Amino acid sequence: MTAAVKVAQIRAPAAMRAAVLEARAAGRRVGFVPTMGALHEGHASLVERAAAECDDVVVSIFVNPTQFGPTEDFARYPRTLAADAALLEPRGARWIFVPEPADMYPPGAATRVVVDGPARPFEGEIRPGHFAGVATVVCRLFHCVPADVAYFGAKDWQQTLVVKRMVCDLGLPIEITVCPTVREADGLAMSSRNAYLGVDERQRAVALHEGLCAAERLWQSGADVAAVELAIRQPLEARGIAIDYAAVVAAETLEPLPVAGAEPPAIALVAGRLGSTRLIDNRLLPPRSRTR
Ligand code: AMP
Repeated sequence: MTAAVKVAQIRAPAAMRAAVLEARAAGRRVGFVPTMGALHEGHASLVERAAAECDDVVVSIFVNPTQFGPTEDFARYPRTLAADAALLEPRGARWIFVPEPADMYPPGAATRVVVDGPARPFEGEIRPGHFAGVATVVCRLFHCVPADVAYFGAKDWQQTLVVKRMVCDLGLPIEITVCPTVREADGLAMSSRNAYLGVDERQRAVALHEGLCAAERLWQSGADVAAVELAIRQPLEARGIAIDYAAVVAAETLEPLPVAGAEPPAIALVAGRLGSTRLIDNRLLPPRSRTR
């Protein structure tokens, strides 16, 4: 029986990079899970997948200031490093990379990675600059953690497209694996931001999941996009959730579905606000024979 190995915390980018390069030089496959901390079972599922597929796993915890807008929740975002380390201990992580903002962004930092295409609609419209912050920090993190493969959650579907686009366009030498969304018992997608919800808001939040389930049923019955989008909206409206968007689009491009011809893989996307808390969710829709 092997004793559980304590997860080592590394702060300095150069030390982190050296540790990963040394492991890879020794023939070890290294997996990387970037996070902002306040870890839950959704994050843990990425770490477990990485541990199953790799010899060593790095989890970064960094609340990235550049992906928050000026009126967003950067200051109050939960920071729970001790609990995060305890959660990671039995899940197979070897290193936690915990840089400070000054380690990631040198004084006078003036470079941003701006992705167009899949970064443009939905979150890109509602949160200007958000995906530039995400792409910039992920690019920087990939430099600090030169792993074989990085793991991202389908929960943030648009983010996975933006990261894949950047990796392809910049020729970054890393594979991207997208893992399924982990949910609470009632279907609410796990999120660090769920901690902001009051008791009543938490009960109403399940409407996002309900809308997506209704969308999938209608989709499979052959309904058109407008009807499916209405089905997403209805439970949110019934529970007083302000809707940022509720849409069915092509899953790989986020562009509108073609009105005729073969139907590409589709996804239902939803974002809503309960008080000051903003939640997003999505569901890949099964292929169907076109009836429209
Ligand atoms: P975050 O800490 O919110 O930046 O998330 C870090 C990573 O965990 C991202 O790739 C997220 O998509 C992923 N993630 C967050 N919530 C979930 C979830 N409920 N299920 C699976 N992955 C998730």
